[in-house]
Amino acid sequence: MKNKGLLLVVSAPSGCGKGTILGEILKDDSFYYSISATTRAPREGEQDGVNYHFITKEEFEQRIAQGGMLEYAQYCGNYYGTPKKEVEQMRDAGRDVILEIEVEGAMKVRALCPDAVFLFIAPPSVEELRRRLNKRGTEAAEVIEERVSQAARELSYADRYDYIIVNGELEKAIQDFRTVVRAEKLRTKNG
Ligand code: 5GP
Repeated sequence: MKNKGLLLVVSAPSGCGKGTILGEILKDDSFYYSISATTRAPREGEQDGVNYHFITKEEFEQRIAQGGMLEYAQYCGNYYGTPKKEVEQMRDAGRDVILEIEVEGAMKVRALCPDAVFLFIAPPSVEELRRRLNKRGTEAAEVIEERVSQAARELSYADRYDYIIVNGELEKAIQDFRTVVRAEKLRTKNG
């Protein structure tokens, strides 16, 4: 029988370079990236069904009521959640799955899936994070401040994760990420 795929849960405050690191990881590894549902409006360049399933609050609440979400949380006034079915089907088929979710949702997965692996990507400092968010320029100033204070709160969860990668230098962070994946695959005899 095929081994069940690895469930890797990745959290990082916004602006930590998580998108860039995961982009690299998803290029050459066989991970299935779980596409979340959200009630937030798409950002410029984001596509429905690629970055997120963009749905209404009513649809989201209906999915919760139907038991369709593995976990969900509210973040900066919007719902975000992981569709349960795909994750289970992929893992049962032996595919490794990545969930890119915030800390509260991650802690729910911790309780539900004891075999999941938890990885936190941290910025070198909160100041550096503010600088990166300003540079990205996708959000208005007050949204950036809201995200910076969220980030400070999320950082307090980091020690509940199995691994913490500090993204000071991108290449090194990517290498660290690959090392974690490799080690976990060997540990679970999936390698
Ligand atoms: P953003 O609006 O920047 O795309 O995402 C905001 C936050 O929501 C990020 O920390 C992201 O990881 C998190 N997030 C995205 N999808 C999910 C999800 O399905 N569940 C939970 N709990 N958080 C999510």
